[in-house]
Amino acid sequence: MAAPIRLISRLTLVTGGGSGIGRAVSQRLASEGASVVIADISEDSANETVGRLQSDLKGQSHMAAAVDVSSKESVTKLLTRIQTRYFQPPSVCVNSAGVTQDDFLLSMEEEKFDRVIQVNLKGSFLVTQAVAQALVACGASKGSIITLGSIVGKVGNLGQVNYAASKAGVEGLTRTAAKELSRFGIRCNCVLPGFITTPMTDEVPEKVLVKMKSLVPLGRMGEPAEVADVCAFLASDDSRYITGASIEVTGGLFMG
Ligand code: NAD
Repeated sequence: MAAPIRLISRLTLVTGGGSGIGRAVSQRLASEGASVVIADISEDSANETVGRLQSDLKGQSHMAAAVDVSSKESVTKLLTRIQTRYFQPPSVCVNSAGVTQDDFLLSMEEEKFDRVIQVNLKGSFLVTQAVAQALVACGASKGSIITLGSIVGKVGNLGQVNYAASKAGVEGLTRTAAKELSRFGIRCNCVLPGFITTPMTDEVPEKVLVKMKSLVPLGRMGEPAEVADVCAFLASDDSRYITGASIEVTGGLFMG
């Protein structure tokens, strides 16, 4: 079945678009007709994603940009750069930049805790705030901001006290943003992946992955494209009555 084309003429921003889920989201948004700004701390990988994007639909123009989402200065520069090039802010933003720095609670160093909170939670705040401010300032009538939480933020996970806390925070941030921004026509939703095959999960020991897979009712890890499908739905008008929602994409892991 051909993919729907729901994002013609839409300008979209994907942080963490140089890898894994962010790259798959960028590909999916481009295949639906959007222009995509791929922003990543690694400019090389952002450029590589741009090189893989479909750009044969009406008026499409993609760009790669370096950003550190944990820095307000860097995020502000990114938004200025986007608006200088496109004369508008992105009306869709997918916050996929994220990191893990795992250790057990008893031995977790403060720096590891801080870094994961800085990138995953503060980064989602800075980017969401900057995009929302730009949309409100230009009088845009609609927007869709999507954050990447994690099922781990709901249920916890051994060795991920920093990551689980950051992702629980991202859900609370998203719900609050949804309440505050709905009057501007901006919807905010959070996607909670389970275990998805990306460079991030490549770091997980094989025996842990085998155990996790045995717990997944659908019996396998997810693919980045399966998370991208949900992000594209949330970006599009097909989800126009959905805001403040958290949608699990887990193959049924930890349901109920
Ligand atoms: P990934 O490591 O493949 O991609 C993350 C990207 O973020 C990389 O390109 C990296 O360079 C970029 N990045 C890191 N720090 C950054 C910063 N400070 N500023 C800008 N970019 C930065 O990981 P992924 O698996 O694609 O994860 C994407 C998102 O999905 C993350 O938020 C992650 O926490 C979340 N998630 C992933 C899984 C999974 O199983 N893979 C599960 C739940 C949630």
